[in-house]
Amino acid sequence: MEQNKDERFPLEHLKLLVEGQLPWEDTKKALRLRPKDTGRFWKYLEVLQERVSWKDKILMRISDHLYIVAKPDGRRVVKCDCGQEFGDYRINWKLSCRIRVRNTVEEMNEVFSIEEGVPDPSKIEVREFYCPGCYAQVAVELVPLGYPPLMEMLPDLDTFYREWLGKPLADERPDWFQDRTVEAPARWAKEG
Ligand SMILES: [Zn+2]
Repeated sequence: MEQNKDERFPLEHLKLLVEGQLPWEDTKKALRLRPKDTGRFWKYLEVLQERVSWKDKILMRISDHLYIVAKPDGRRVVKCDCGQEFGDYRINWKLSCRIRVRNTVEEMNEVFSIEEGVPDPSKIEVREFYCPGCYAQVAVELVPLGYPPLMEMLPDLDTFYREWLGKPLADERPDWFQDRTVEAPARWAKEG
């Protein structure tokens, strides 16, 4: 009902916040609201959905450009705002990126401005991950040589929607919350 609508943090402010345009004073107010406005997550999803050109339902935003979305065929995949898809969200999406590796002092110097901060390329490499669709940089990691790509986030979506939002997803399944990244290289090996 209209009188129950919580307007202490209006949708317009949320839109500005997502754009990075909300003045700091209003941002602080939103952070300090007690109790928090109800339904903020749903409003946030609504704002995100308006910003993308595709229709797949956003379940969660996982970085500036990437979302976990529900596909009409029942899959949950990682998708870039440009529309590029990275496959099943349980497989580290970094494996579907274009990757640039910096492993020499010269290459490190191009991106580190303080000499003392340049990693030792005999121990560390810098990996830059790019979306193959729009070439946005979607991640950077500094890791020991040969270290497996870091899985940045594997959310337990079913628990989040059921326990925290109180609105369970219709396709709940125990095997959604599983890191299946090793399946990708196994498939590549089979495909030769
Ligand atoms: Zn993209």
